[in-house]
Amino acid sequence: MTPRIAIVGAGPVGLTLAVLLHRAGFAPQVFEAGPAIAEELRASTFHPPTLDMLDTIGVARPLIAQGLVTPTWQIRLHETGDRAVFDLSVLSEDTGFPHRLQAEQHKLSHLLLALLPAGTVRFATPVAAVAQDADGVTLELEGGETARADYAVGCDGARSVVRRAMALDFPGDTYPETTILATTPFAFDAVLPGLSNVNYVWTSHPAFSGTFSLLRVPGKWRASLYPAPEETVEQALDPAAIERKLQAIHPKDTPYDVPDLRPYRVHQRIVEDYRRGRLILAGDAAHLNSPSGGMGMNGGIHDAFELAPTLTAVLRGETDDTILDRYTRRRRPVAEREIIAQADRNRARMREKDPDRRRTLLAEMQVLCDDRGRLREHLLRTSMITGLRQAATIT
Ligand SMILES: Cc1cc2nc3c(=O)[nH]c(=O)nc-3n(C[C@H](O)[C@H](O)[C@H](O)COP(=O)(O)OP(=O)(O)OC[C@H]3O[C@@H](n4cnc5c(N)ncnc54)[C@H](O)[C@@H]3O)c2cc1C
Repeated sequence: MTPRIAIVGAGPVGLTLAVLLHRAGFAPQVFEAGPAIAEELRASTFHPPTLDMLDTIGVARPLIAQGLVTPTWQIRLHETGDRAVFDLSVLSEDTGFPHRLQAEQHKLSHLLLALLPAGTVRFATPVAAVAQDADGVTLELEGGETARADYAVGCDGARSVVRRAMALDFPGDTYPETTILATTPFAFDAVLPGLSNVNYVWTSHPAFSGTFSLLRVPGKWRASLYPAPEETVEQALDPAAIERKLQAIHPKDTPYDVPDLRPYRVHQRIVEDYRRGRLILAGDAAHLNSPSGGMGMNGGIHDAFELAPTLTAVLRGETDDTILDRYTRRRRPVAEREIIAQADRNRARMREKDPDRRRTLLAEMQVLCDDRGRLREHLLRTSMITGLRQAATIT
């Protein structure tokens, strides 16, 4: 009997896992609630080791062709333009892709979907409930249909149904601030000298609460803004308030074109175990972190690359299924220490408001950026390579 693997969720993580299992000779079935690939602007940064992994399934280069190769990222003081520039070329011995890639996550999802046989992903098919017994897993689809599988992997994001079926808490907290994502075609790089494609910015302008970021994807810039201290979220979402903030970033005579505006809250949470019997979690279903540093989706893709060969060995009968617990042992500490904690530090650093402290931090980072040895160590960690190397040693 061919083993049956159900994947709940066709986000970047579920689709990566599906492609890997398909390549290993299985026929996974993916159930996706949405009618099609989600097109909303979420992740935009791919880190070097993720590109190395995607290259093994032939997806890195087509993705790069649709994105922006980003050799540096920076932390800057808006008022002076003073900056620390982190040059990823120091990683040239460590990765085939010593740069970040700025590309929307849906571009990856479309590339992955195209690698799967027709019918692998059932869109508009929400999974209402999941239950396991000694022989397998039953998925209850909305509308009354049921499906059976030997294993079900929950790649179904923050509100995971599979996680609920595993009776796992999702402990952690929600950050108090609301982030407002404002997208504009205006070319900030043409007016702000020395801008990279990824910029985390300190400002003391009263329109802000101390910080904003500017991230570029092809054809547009994405500004992450926060309500000013006296502003409610509703007031900050008013188009006039958005315009004030963008004018404070760069004053110009004409108003900004902002076709996309979206508020979101950020969580840091992680489950205690990624597996309960025949139910397994990957990606946002297992861990959530601040987007500062761009690691959530990348970490989820790394989960899929760890899980696929492990599950393959079990499905082929090469080993018993206790090896699946190694997946938690390898991936959970990385998520906790290298992703969630690091993203939390990134967020805290950018929320520093004291001007002297900011200058000190910036000076320290500039010294770091001038020392290629220390910079390499720093970028190995922030580019998620250190965590992967540590995980690979765990048995
Ligand atoms: C503004 C923003 C910026 C970000 N930037 C970055 C970045 O630069 N780099 C980075 O690495 N990460 C970033 N992230 C995080 C990244 O977007 C997520 O980590 C990533 O989407 C997780 O992928 P996933 O496949 O695990 O989950 P999701 O992308 O959430 O996909 C889950 C899928 O499951 C489906 N689903 C849910 N429930 C069910 C159900 N019951 N039945 C069937 N289907 C279901 C959903 O419809 C969805 O398609 C950012 C996030 C935000 C909000």
